[in-house]
Amino acid sequence: MDYKAFHKLSYGLYIITSVHDEKRAGYIGNTVFQVTSDPPRIAISCHKKNDTTDVILKSGIFAVSVLKKEVSTSLIGEFGFMSSSEIDKFARVKTETHVTGAPVVVDSCVAWLDCKVIQHTDVGSHILIIGEVADSRVLSDDEPLTYEYYREKYRMLAPRHAPTYIEKSKLEANEPVKETPAPPPASQPESKVVDITDDDDESYICSICGHVYNPEEGDPTVGIPPGTPFSDLPEDYRCPVCNAGKDYYKPLG
Ligand code: FE
Repeated sequence: MDYKAFHKLSYGLYIITSVHDEKRAGYIGNTVFQVTSDPPRIAISCHKKNDTTDVILKSGIFAVSVLKKEVSTSLIGEFGFMSSSEIDKFARVKTETHVTGAPVVVDSCVAWLDCKVIQHTDVGSHILIIGEVADSRVLSDDEPLTYEYYREKYRMLAPRHAPTYIEKSKLEANEPVKETPAPPPASQPESKVVDITDDDDESYICSICGHVYNPEEGDPTVGIPPGTPFSDLPEDYRCPVCNAGKDYYKPLG
């Protein structure tokens, strides 16, 4: 099977939110689609392990905010890659409530739809939830963000719980094998003085998903040995969680 065929399906990117007993939850999903026009109904596919799924099923309400094309990566990082149990995802975004009471995110969004759950179906790893749109609004004429643009511009993978998540190994299985020239033989000086500075010990955090690169551990998933400072990582190093490039890492401080 060629898993890249799945990337030819078109999607947008959305912030999906809900609230139950004053607990707000939200995540970024790409699986939102209209299923009927009269009455107006949409469907979303939510991972069973997402906090938000539980909150939607308990409250029977959810809101979908359509992200604009030029969205900040930190917003994607917080809503897309972090858990509501770890951070308050709503601390830095403006929200509104409308008919259902679900927290509607309006920052960086071009439109929203406020929905009541009318049906849900267990589809394995995910729950397919159908909602009737109680209210909706266009916020701006900016272009909406598409999943394809997100993948190409930010060079990031789907979060692990996204319905469209495909393991990297499956995507790469169809790529032609590239011949890598053998590295030149190592010619280490017999006694090398290693200059260990504070910077070499410093951990760096991925601003997209919160992954921490710790030089003491290196990154065994891609053969980076323990003791490798962040500055010595190859320029094409990518976050093992969200696939963001090295530029997205900041000193942990
Ligand atoms: Fe990351």
